[in-house]
Amino acid sequence: MENVRRDLILMVRLQKIYDRIAELLVDQRTPPTEIRELHEENVRRKQELEAMEEQIEQLRAEEEEVRAKEVESQAELEHFQKQKATVTNEREFTAVINEIDFATKSVEEAVARRKEIEEAVAQLEREIEQRRQSRPEEEASHRKVVKQWEDRKHELTESIHALAHEARAIEDRLQPASRSRFLRLLKSRQGKAVSVVVDGSCSLCHFELRPHVQQRVYRAEEIITCEHCRRILVLPNIEELFPDEAASG
Ligand SMILES: [Zn+2]
Repeated sequence: MENVRRDLILMVRLQKIYDRIAELLVDQRTPPTEIRELHEENVRRKQELEAMEEQIEQLRAEEEEVRAKEVESQAELEHFQKQKATVTNEREFTAVINEIDFATKSVEEAVARRKEIEEAVAQLEREIEQRRQSRPEEEASHRKVVKQWEDRKHELTESIHALAHEARAIEDRLQPASRSRFLRLLKSRQGKAVSVVVDGSCSLCHFELRPHVQQRVYRAEEIITCEHCRRILVLPNIEELFPDEAASG
């Protein structure tokens, strides 16, 4: 009987440790707002750079077409300029002049567009370069925020390890059957093996205990489980009710 009470008291303590571990694990998975913002900003910056690089690629492709057009129009222009020397009448002369005008315009347009593209590419490249250049103050403050979060995570890990160690020590003192029961429940019941009885009900699933079950929980002479959620039931003040067992636990 004393052994069961002692086990129940140890299980209450164990549950508290596992609750604390669960809280710390949540903290560890929840980076502070600054870290999340920093991450979002990095993603955004990367996307903007990629968009600019894509724009450059498109402009370069267009530039190639424009250059081809320029070469072609230039060749036509030279062809008609040669032809101009061989015309024999006014009608032919007018026609050649028209062709020369047309080809000249084509060359001019291609050159103008090529220059526009070259400027746009140069501008984009400057912007990319500017964005890539580190901004020392900002980088330093970012590093500080990241370092603080890394340190905090490390601290949390240490605390979790210490608690796990503490839990192991208590588990070693439980009777083997109680230990395996507790650990099995802990695993199958989302980290909650023990439930406190409040106002005659299981505090975790709110199942109302029948009076005689309540009595058995109050006596703490055996391990009683909730008829609904199967967790081990205890009184919230079990340590005060059984100070001797609490002291020996
Ligand atoms: Zn329950």
